Amino acid sequence: MIDIVTCEICGKLYNPNGFFKVCPMCQENDELDFKKIKDYLNLHPCAKIFDVVTDLDISVKKIKRYLRESRLEILEKDNHFLFCESCGKSIRTGRYCDECYKSHHKNMKAVYSDNSNTKHSNSIRFRTDSHSKRASSI
Ligand SMILES: [Zn+2]
Ligand SMILES: [Zn+2]
Repeated sequence: MIDIVTCEICGKLYNPNGFFKVCPMCQENDELDFKKIKDYLNLHPCAKIFDVVTDLDISVKKIKRYLRESRLEILEKDNHFLFCESCGKSIRTGRYCDECYKSHHKNMKAVYSDNSNTKHSNSIRFRTDSHSKRASSI
């Protein structure tokens, strides 16, 4: 039996390939945008999220998704941009803060600590603009 799911980005129906939650078309665009961000941050290591949004014309929503997927990381711990889905604390990457992650995944603790090094070495870091009022309005 083949499962058909709706693409999170464009809403089209497609056959999932297991890992990605978006259709192959969006996945390709996604990779291109991610590469653009990566190149941009190589050139501008101190770039802020809103520089990326403005200069590359990439939506904040998309950047948040990369952050949730741990593909991007925010430099400041107290960024008021990305929040733990459980307790609402500012986090730098992923979906939960360390404490919530540990309490949600007690049994996976060993796996988590194994992954944490490799996970973070590939992620891109950037700064939030703490002076920008736009940051808190999203
Ligand atoms: Zn799509
Ligand atoms: Zn939390």
